[in-house]
Amino acid sequence: MKAAAVDLAALVKAAREARERAYAPYSGFTVGAAILACDGTVFTGANVENASYGLTLCAERVALACAVAAGRRKFEALAVVAASATVPCGACLQSLAEFGTSWVLVLAGPEGPFHRLDLQALLPQPFALRGGNG
Ligand SMILES: [Zn+2]
Repeated sequence: MKAAAVDLAALVKAAREARERAYAPYSGFTVGAAILACDGTVFTGANVENASYGLTLCAERVALACAVAAGRRKFEALAVVAASATVPCGACLQSLAEFGTSWVLVLAGPEGPFHRLDLQALLPQPFALRGGNG
């Protein structure tokens, strides 16, 4: 499936629904994410905060871990929904880059339009042990 054929609006909808399941009692900053695997499967995640703060899991990495644990390794797009369109943190960008650098990123708030970016624009030179990702 090519990124142009991806139903980004549906992916944002899935991320908005996932955001409702976020566990964010400390910051109140709820985030939902939805990942589209190349086989068309969608995996969702929500942020899971922890009293120690440092153990908090971002929604993006929760969704990615679910997808990888389900056996997926190739992905098309990631939608992230927060109180407003928010760029994923550096740790999440690097985690995405582990599985390729051609991700389409879709950022949105609870309602309204979404913004489309490419992972390469946000993380042009990810860390790589093998001399290149993707
Ligand atoms: Zn993050």
